Amino acid sequence: MSLSTEQKFEKMKDLRDRLFHFKESPLYTYRTENKYFPVVGEGSHNARIMFVGEAPGKNEAETARPFCGRSGKILDEMLESINLNRSDVYITNIVKDRPPENRDPSPEEIKHYAPFLNEQIDIIQPHVIATLGRFSMSYILDLMKCNTSITTIGEMHGKEFAGQASYGLVTVVPLYHPAVALYNGGNKQALVDDFQVLKKYV
Ligand code: URA
Repeated sequence: MSLSTEQKFEKMKDLRDRLFHFKESPLYTYRTENKYFPVVGEGSHNARIMFVGEAPGKNEAETARPFCGRSGKILDEMLESINLNRSDVYITNIVKDRPPENRDPSPEEIKHYAPFLNEQIDIIQPHVIATLGRFSMSYILDLMKCNTSITTIGEMHGKEFAGQASYGLVTVVPLYHPAVALYNGGNKQALVDDFQVLKKYV
């Protein structure tokens, strides 16, 4: 079912409200005690390309904006390299609250927050989902029933996988998490090269 821009806005607002009061989350107490925000996502509700990261860090939880710290600068640079900016795409994470100490999201946290991500995908209905990092790669390839065995991100990054969303066909492109570029120049070049794969969907 296609949705109007107004319907998308209303659905996203409702989702935002539910996330705000998501007391069942294992991260709810940590969020409220630290006066953090849930990070819903940012960008166009009509985007053709949706980016899915892992979980907010401290900067994100303080501002309610995804990828606004050092990894975000790399992501902006990559978007620019294919003549896009944030308002052309939609950027979100699997887990919507910050895990303590920036640790990896736990399976339990992913299980709690994934239904929100699924709803966002059905609202935005992207043609392409670019995953950032191994957690979103595994989750989205599985969700979209991509016909592939899931191996390492080192093997799968930059490839295109056909998947089936509730609204039609979708292409999944696993990418390295932008943070890898902060630590490893070789991975940064791979990220640059992989973004070129997205160019044809712009
Ligand atoms: N890393 C992520 O995976 N997501 C963010 O929003 C920020 C850093």
